[in-house]
Amino acid sequence: MPAEIVRNKFIELFKEEPLLVRSPGRVNLIGEHTDYNMGFVLPAAIDKAIYFAISPRSDGVCKLFAVDMNDSYEFSVSELKKSGKQWPEYLIGVLDQLKKLGKNIEGFNCVFGGDIPLGAGLSSSAALEAGLAFSLNHLFNLGIDKLSLVKLAQKSENEFVGVNCGIMDQYINIFGAAKKVLKIDCRSLEYEYHPFTNDDLRIVLCNTMVTHSLASSEYNTRRAQCEAGVKILQQKYPSIKSLRDASMQALDESKADMDAVTYKRCKYVIEENERVTAACADLEKNDFVSFGCRMYQSHNGLSREYEVSCKELDFLVEQTENMDSVLGSRMMGGGFGGCTINLVKNDFVGEFKNRIQSSYKEKFGKDPLVYICKIEEGTHIIR
Ligand code: ADP
Ligand code: MG
Repeated sequence: MPAEIVRNKFIELFKEEPLLVRSPGRVNLIGEHTDYNMGFVLPAAIDKAIYFAISPRSDGVCKLFAVDMNDSYEFSVSELKKSGKQWPEYLIGVLDQLKKLGKNIEGFNCVFGGDIPLGAGLSSSAALEAGLAFSLNHLFNLGIDKLSLVKLAQKSENEFVGVNCGIMDQYINIFGAAKKVLKIDCRSLEYEYHPFTNDDLRIVLCNTMVTHSLASSEYNTRRAQCEAGVKILQQKYPSIKSLRDASMQALDESKADMDAVTYKRCKYVIEENERVTAACADLEKNDFVSFGCRMYQSHNGLSREYEVSCKELDFLVEQTENMDSVLGSRMMGGGFGGCTINLVKNDFVGEFKNRIQSSYKEKFGKDPLVYICKIEEGTHIIR
């Protein structure tokens, strides 16, 4: 149990009983590349997490120990600077944001570690940031509300780590709930829960084990293409501020004014936003067959219209198409690598894993890691 390992290490190092906090990873069921178009996403917190064991100090010193790295780092709250290593930045960034909010921390001891795979797209980074922000808020009675915790965790990654991430990962980390998905409106930041209650199904992730260097430049290109599409749409409909506001009818009226690439990028985003809302209606009816179909449609759009997939992701999705016990499959995350997310009937999970692993190995000569997930609650205190 990672929680016990973390707690024991803390007691060994600091000889006292810590506050224990669990901070989960996440999946996104549907709604990809919709966040920066001010649309909808549908994430859920999962049963893989980073555990924090933490206690206050009063001498202005912060002592960190990363169990999974077997590495420590120490710094002073009065002097927040880059560590020169990777993992401490996610945590120092949180202190940096607290300081900017005028919240002063007197120092702390912290041991952390868990079972979220690193860099696989399950957002271990947000689990670090939001988990520490939550822990410190509790430990020092900072009185920061949940949405402000989310925003400061996101800003830690933006400003200190230097990754221009959206708000979804930190949002679901703090607001996640067991057996529920969270529909987030990326413009208003309003949210609603929808039930995800099917004990016969598992969420299974297949890791392509590839990351393409293309990802960040193509990401910027997609953002620019969406903005270009909005400019053209505004000529007929000035009230369209982002693709979130556009309908397929409006897009088709402007089709003659835009090039074919811009058109298909916009088409994907408009349809994906509609799919998120429709997928929530499926969940309210407990209709996982329809929900799964929308996942396949999402993948099709991402692959053919938005063109952010790759041969490995497409292969993993295609492999599931003739498996009756797989209800849905699509690439998850920014694209060009990372994981696919699959809805798989419980009693087929073992066979699914074997078949996917052997066909992928045969095709690409790589072993894809497979993660089986359940939806769990967001960051909370264990004790
Ligand atoms: P993702 O968020 O998809 O998992 P990122 O690249 O955004 O991937 O974040 C991964 C980084 O977060 C790791 O390289 C590491 O620096 C840090 N990290 C994540 N989990 C841990 C952990 N358990 N222990 C130490 N550092 C971690
Ligand atoms: Mg991350």
